[in-house]
Amino acid sequence: MIDRKDKLISGYKAFRAGDYKAQKKLYEELGTKGQSPKVMLIACSDSRVDPTDIFDAYPGEMFVTRNVANIVPPYDTDDGFFGTAATIEYAVKVLKVEMIVVMGHESCGGIKGCLDGMGHDPDAGYVGKWVSIINNVRERVLARSLPENEVVLEMELEGVRQSLTNLMSFPFVKEAVESGTLKLQGAYFSIIQARLMLSNEQDEFELIPA
Ligand SMILES: [Zn+2]
Repeated sequence: MIDRKDKLISGYKAFRAGDYKAQKKLYEELGTKGQSPKVMLIACSDSRVDPTDIFDAYPGEMFVTRNVANIVPPYDTDDGFFGTAATIEYAVKVLKVEMIVVMGHESCGGIKGCLDGMGHDPDAGYVGKWVSIINNVRERVLARSLPENEVVLEMELEGVRQSLTNLMSFPFVKEAVESGTLKLQGAYFSIIQARLMLSNEQDEFELIPA
């Protein structure tokens, strides 16, 4: 078995000799002056969909949060720990990002889990509880009686749409959007062909020419 720590060290060395060498000044500047990213990215934790790779972003360019199935929970003031909500609040109120992108993706395990009913299974642990946030999306998509091969894609896209709707339930997001300082954007990445789709004004996803 590969020694995981060795792999970390060799990766770090490659970074120092490659990207870091080319971006030494940028790191110095970011470390000294702080960050001022203009875009927040909400993506899935899936190891195959790294937003900074897909959008060719340099360090300091994107404020990223990733969770199972790229879900934005609706605004909620109950007691609890709100990791995703905290990152959104920080991005909007402190960093004053100009755009929040929610990016879904192909063959998402979290979306599949929700479709399979994990969100209704009390024994499905933290993941089950987390994906239960989009049980309403599941019910909506299943009610459409789509052909079987379209259900998963539709659920993945509809999950992004729901997260964009939920973003608007945060008072500070709504205020920034309505005052024109913040835009919300849906995105979808198909892994097999590395194709990107972006949502338009009508909330439909359009393929972006590579
Ligand atoms: Zn995923």
